[in-house]
Amino acid sequence: ETHLLELPIPSEDIAFGLMSDFEADTHPNKVSLIAGTYRDENGKPWILPSVKMAKEQLRDENHEYLGIAGSPTFINLAKELIFGPVASGSQDNIGSIQTVSGTSANHIAATFLADRLRPNRVFIPSPTWINHKSIWESTGVTVAEYPYYSSSTKEVDMAGIMDSLDQAEPNDIVVLQACAHNPTGVDLSTSQWRQVADLCHRRMLFVVFDSAYQGFATGDVDGDAWAVRHFTEKVLAFENHPGLCVAQSFSKNFGLYGERVGALHLVLPRNVSALGARGELMAIVRREYSNPPRFGASIVQKVLGDCGLRVQWEDDLSTMSLRIKIMRCELRRGLEKETQQDWSHVETQIGMFSYTGLTKEQVSRLRDEFHIYLLPSGRISVCGLNEGNIQYVVHAISEVTK
Ligand code: PMP
Repeated sequence: ETHLLELPIPSEDIAFGLMSDFEADTHPNKVSLIAGTYRDENGKPWILPSVKMAKEQLRDENHEYLGIAGSPTFINLAKELIFGPVASGSQDNIGSIQTVSGTSANHIAATFLADRLRPNRVFIPSPTWINHKSIWESTGVTVAEYPYYSSSTKEVDMAGIMDSLDQAEPNDIVVLQACAHNPTGVDLSTSQWRQVADLCHRRMLFVVFDSAYQGFATGDVDGDAWAVRHFTEKVLAFENHPGLCVAQSFSKNFGLYGERVGALHLVLPRNVSALGARGELMAIVRREYSNPPRFGASIVQKVLGDCGLRVQWEDDLSTMSLRIKIMRCELRRGLEKETQQDWSHVETQIGMFSYTGLTKEQVSRLRDEFHIYLLPSGRISVCGLNEGNIQYVVHAISEVTK
C-alpha cells in the first residue's frame, strides 16, 4: 500500500531551474538574462545609495514584532506613493496593510476576494507573471485568460482585451499590471487605460492592480502610477462600483528583493467603509504569518519619510531606469546593424523585461552554443546586459536569427 504523501517529484520552476543551470555553467562568457533583479554596469547586484544611507541610520533598530497590519508609518507612506493626491480625503474608503512583498499581497487579495466577492471568474492577462495563475487557481476561482499581447504587431492586443472583458460578469475580477508589464514590456497608452477603466466600471468588474515596478519602469513614480490613480479616482467618485485592490511591491524600486517589502490596498466606493474588510485582511495575515517582516519596511519608511533620502532615491531610480534604456538602445542598434531587421520593439518596450520575439529553438541555441540564458518565451531581463557582454549577446542573437 502506498503512503498518501509519497508524491511524484514536481518539475522544477522554469526560471529557478534555469538559474541553477546557469550557476553550474563554467563557460567564461556565460550571460544570464533570466532573473528579474537589477544588475549594475558590472553585472553585480546594486545596493541603492539611498537604501545604504537609511540602513546606516537603522543600526540600532530593535527586532520586535510589528503589528498584524505592519508599520503604520510605512503603510501611510506606501499609500501616498501609489495613490498620490488621489487618496487624500478618502481615509475610510481605503484599507491598507503591509504584506510580504508583492507575492503575498496578490495572494491575500485573492484569498479575500474569492471568499467575499465570490467572482465567477478571474481574468488574467496572457501572458503574465507566472504566479498570477497559480495564486488564483489555489483559491478555486475559475481562471480565464484575456489576450494581452499580439506577437504579430508586438503591441497590446486592445481588441482582444476589450472583447474578453466584455464577456465578464459583475463582480468578476480583472488582474492588470500597473506598468512595465512582465513579461512583454508593453503597456497600455493612457487612452487605452481610459477605455479599459470605463469598461470595467460599466460591467462592474473588480480590478486587482499588480504594481511591481513603480518608478523603476521610467524613473517617474507619478507617471508609473497613472493607471492606478485613474482607476482609483473612478472608484472613489461613484457609489455603485465594486472597488479595486493594489498589490504593491518594493522589491525592484528599492532593490530590496530578499527583505520582502510590500503592501495591499483595498479601495471601496465613496459610500462604503473599508475598515471591516481591512479587519478581515488582517485575520488572513494572522493565520498565515502573524505579522510582516520589519527591517525592509523600516528602510523604506526611512527613505520615503526623509526629504534628503527621498531625493536620493529618485536619483537612484533614474540611475537604474536610464541604464536599462541605454542597454535597450544599444541592443537595438547592434541587432539592426548585424541582422538588417527591425528591432525597434526592444527599445520601445519599457521596464526590466523585453519580449524579444525569439523562438524556443533560438532560445535553446543561445544556451547550447553561446551560454546565454533566457526564458523559453524569449523574454530577456534587460538588466543582465552591460558594456562587457552586449556585443557578445548581439552577435549571438544575430547568429541564431540568420
Ligand atoms: N508581480 C509582478 C508582475 C512581478 O513581476 C513580480 C516580481 N517578479 C511580483 C509581482 C512579485 O515580486 P515580489 O514578491 O518580490 O514583490
